[in-house]
Amino acid sequence: MTEQLDAVVIGSGPNGLAAAVELARHGASVRVLERADTIGGGTRTAELTLPGFMHDVCSACHPLAVDSPYLTTLPLADHGLEWIFPPLSVAHPLDGEPAVLLRLGVEETASELGIDRAAYERLMRPLVRTAPELLEAVLGPLVRVPQHPLVLARYGALALTPAKALGQLAFRGTRARALLAGCAAHSILPLERVMSGAVGLLFLITGHLHPWPVPRGGSAAITRALASYLSALGGSIETGTQVRSMADLPAARVYLFDTSPRQLAAVAGSALPQRFVNRLLRFQYGPAVFKIDWALDGPVPWRDPRCLGASTVHIGGTLDEIAASEAAVWRGDHWDRPYVLMVQASQFDSTRAPEGKQTGWAYCHVPEGSTVDHTDVIERQVERFAPGFRDRIIARHVMYPADLERNNPNDVGGAITGGAANLMQMIARPTPRIDPYSTPNPRFYLCSAATPPGGGVHGMCGYHAARSALRRLHGFQRSRAS
Ligand SMILES: Cc1cc2nc3c(=O)[nH]c(=O)nc-3n(C[C@H](O)[C@H](O)[C@H](O)COP(=O)(O)OP(=O)(O)OC[C@H]3O[C@@H](n4cnc5c(N)ncnc54)[C@H](O)[C@@H]3O)c2cc1C
Repeated sequence: MTEQLDAVVIGSGPNGLAAAVELARHGASVRVLERADTIGGGTRTAELTLPGFMHDVCSACHPLAVDSPYLTTLPLADHGLEWIFPPLSVAHPLDGEPAVLLRLGVEETASELGIDRAAYERLMRPLVRTAPELLEAVLGPLVRVPQHPLVLARYGALALTPAKALGQLAFRGTRARALLAGCAAHSILPLERVMSGAVGLLFLITGHLHPWPVPRGGSAAITRALASYLSALGGSIETGTQVRSMADLPAARVYLFDTSPRQLAAVAGSALPQRFVNRLLRFQYGPAVFKIDWALDGPVPWRDPRCLGASTVHIGGTLDEIAASEAAVWRGDHWDRPYVLMVQASQFDSTRAPEGKQTGWAYCHVPEGSTVDHTDVIERQVERFAPGFRDRIIARHVMYPADLERNNPNDVGGAITGGAANLMQMIARPTPRIDPYSTPNPRFYLCSAATPPGGGVHGMCGYHAARSALRRLHGFQRSRAS
């Protein structure tokens, strides 16, 4: 007789593995099926350019992982995960003046914001004071009885203001506005839209809790540690196993999909009501990214050398420039001076590059499915603040949106956050349901970044989906016992 597992997880991204770990911690027998030959989904590290240069294929910088209310409860250090904290979270270079720096201290950060020094302290101090409660409240389903209603209400009043308006209302000078805009643009939303302000504030808050860290050895170390812990708990992982239909699924009581809603529909559609499948198929993925990894002959020659102390550099200039760049992407336009997100992990982790050399990781947002080569515009933006940068490039590796999707089908059209973070899709993600991880079929669950709280390496989607599935599994156990 074929053995029946308690749970099968389809996909070994950070959410799939977090779900598997949470299930296994509660005694469930779990197997993870991964289509690729290596585990990790959006957390993979590879020699993309030259031997000895370790590049993060997808995620590179991890403020949400070190502050994740779930991942921080797991013994991942015992399974090889080591965080490296740089001196600064973010450097945001500007033309003709020193870069703006997101430092650990609110006051230290504010001290270089000129006219907005007091305004920044007034805005951020109360948010940072209640940050743990706030993170617990926002890194879960939005539709539920809030655990910290007052904290959430204070944040919500500010966070529902789009980033551009928030920057203009809260600050008078270029520097503080630029800092907010650079953080808000992580939302991959126009800065005139609701939720962009929420994301901007969230990233500023995380920078005041820990300097945005990188894992020693690359982002693959995060999922390697999760996989090692899963194995210690008795769970197993099969790589090179693509699930195309229900016939590919081993017998199990519940199935958790660390996939896009589109793939859940393709695999399990026949076991789900057509109306629900139609909703899954209407889910929006949003714009894509164009990514470059560089092997460099030395550090980036920033005009303001303090930028070398930051894991992440937000390139794109003023709030108005960044807003124009992000709005263009949503209109389907290609922008000449895009907002560029850059991470310089080898600056802090010597395992990433041969001695004396460095790696560079960067991307800009582009319209969904774009086939336009953005190498030149990205490198011109870096040159703008680091003249001579191009002379340091020894090799480069680029990924178009189609390459990202080929690498991982969850990155639909090259979109990297599991689905657009607009207000509707944050409240009802992927469809309107009280328990957004469940489906109308009690054996199927979605645990990927297409569920709340959305994109990023934090494992919270997986954790919440596992809790939902465990309620079902415990029901099974009760009925078996009676
Ligand atoms: C270029 C890029 C840069 C990013 N930068 C950052 C960053 O710096 N910081 C950050 O926090 N986040 C970043 N992200 C986002 C982050 O990587 C994702 O939000 C996160 O990985 C989502 O985790 P997940 O488990 O939901 O899905 P994924 O990590 O996408 O994993 C899904 C897994 O499921 C597998 N799979 C899919 N379909 C099937 C199937 N049918 N059968 C079997 N296996 C299947 C896939 O192969 C994949 O391994 C970035 C993403 C990209 C692409």
